[in-house]
Amino acid sequence: MLDRSNELTAWDRDHFFHPSTHMGMHARGETPTRVMVGGEGVWITDKSGKKSLDAFAGLYCVNVGYGRTEIAEAIAKQAHELAYYHAYVGHGTDASITLSKMIIDRAPAHMSRVYFGLSGSDANETNIKLIWYYNNVLGRPEKKKIISRWRGYHGSGVMTGSLTGLDVFHNAFDLPRAPILHTEAPYYFRREDRSMTEEQFSQHCADKLEEMILAEGPETVAAFIGEPILGTGGLVPPPAGYWAKIQAVLKKYDVLLVADEVVTGFGRLGTMFGSDHYGMKPDLITIAKGLTSAYAPLSGTIVAEEMWNVLVQGSDKLGAIGHGWTYSSHPICAAAGVANLELIDKLDLVTNAGETGAYFRQKLADAVGSHRHVGEVRGDGLMAAVEFVADRDDRVFFDASEKIGPQIAAALLERGVIGRAMPQGDILGFAPPLCITREEADIVVEKTVKALDDVFGR
Ligand code: PMP
Repeated sequence: MLDRSNELTAWDRDHFFHPSTHMGMHARGETPTRVMVGGEGVWITDKSGKKSLDAFAGLYCVNVGYGRTEIAEAIAKQAHELAYYHAYVGHGTDASITLSKMIIDRAPAHMSRVYFGLSGSDANETNIKLIWYYNNVLGRPEKKKIISRWRGYHGSGVMTGSLTGLDVFHNAFDLPRAPILHTEAPYYFRREDRSMTEEQFSQHCADKLEEMILAEGPETVAAFIGEPILGTGGLVPPPAGYWAKIQAVLKKYDVLLVADEVVTGFGRLGTMFGSDHYGMKPDLITIAKGLTSAYAPLSGTIVAEEMWNVLVQGSDKLGAIGHGWTYSSHPICAAAGVANLELIDKLDLVTNAGETGAYFRQKLADAVGSHRHVGEVRGDGLMAAVEFVADRDDRVFFDASEKIGPQIAAALLERGVIGRAMPQGDILGFAPPLCITREEADIVVEKTVKALDDVFGR
């Protein structure tokens, strides 16, 4: 085949407006264009022929790994039979109806309905609208505020970007922050008062939440949204007792709980959902990435039966719900979802995420945990992070301008492993496909040790 690499690079620089990319540097050719061409299992190949072990599963989404013919064939079959029909006014396909049943079979027992979207962001937009609609149906039009957390990640849309508690997603966009509030991140390693135990810190987070609800007026606060384990904000598991204490406050003030399981849904923590893992009882669950392992874009909002019973009354008063996407439950994406969930079961990937995840995190902690510039190695299931510090005894962080996290991720990539420099802090994140083996996990650990040597010296 004609090698068009140079042409592609030029077209890329001149025409492709990339997400989450330094626009000027890329257009000027100061950052590389990487054209990805193939993948199998945890391995991905670029156009130059370089194979890398993708220890972040794309954007923690290719959960079954690359190159699964079962999913490719299901997509092709659906495309041949019926590529599209909408889901308005009661329409569906075998795939979309079957997938809704498969999701509810796997979801916490009190959930009963799924509303489909295409991305995690639009599913969280749906959540916000359902929360507001719910309180309107209940005759409480003033109960509309939503509390999120600093360092939470919930999307890049207008409202979901507001929910996201990371500065780079707010700054310079004038997002409408008004009905959205942010409370303390459950980030034990970065707690101000270092004398606190995990339980005490969890109580402190719950107290902060309660203070905020009381200051705003409980009659104005509708919902709280959180990822079971903080993802993009730093891959931070909740400190001991956190979710029990938070849920007690929410219950006291009749505030709904949204579990954003875009990353944790369908096995990443070694349980089907993170809510089961941490004892959460959410009213809404956001799902996306792992639903199709990113073989096609699909997301969803899972609704608790109790909340559904209220939403239904809205239709009886107001008619059909005025919320719909053209591509909601797109048949090709739904077919990918069915094949993906079948594959997760067949290969027992949820168990592997728990077992190989524990193995990987232990190995990582053993290998780099006592390094002079490692402040913490943490994680749960197949999510792990290494946080770098200038001084581990006094917990002094590096200046952001030193770009330590990005330097280490770059050194690791050079050595053939993809990790992710998380956007706020010097944090190297790992979230490999759920099919990763112990041998592959060993490679990630070995190369991480070398990447630290590359950046910090031996
Ligand atoms: N919620 C969480 C927890 C996420 O991690 C993400 C994406 N990383 C989103 C929502 C947004 O999903 P999307 O990028 O598909 O809009």
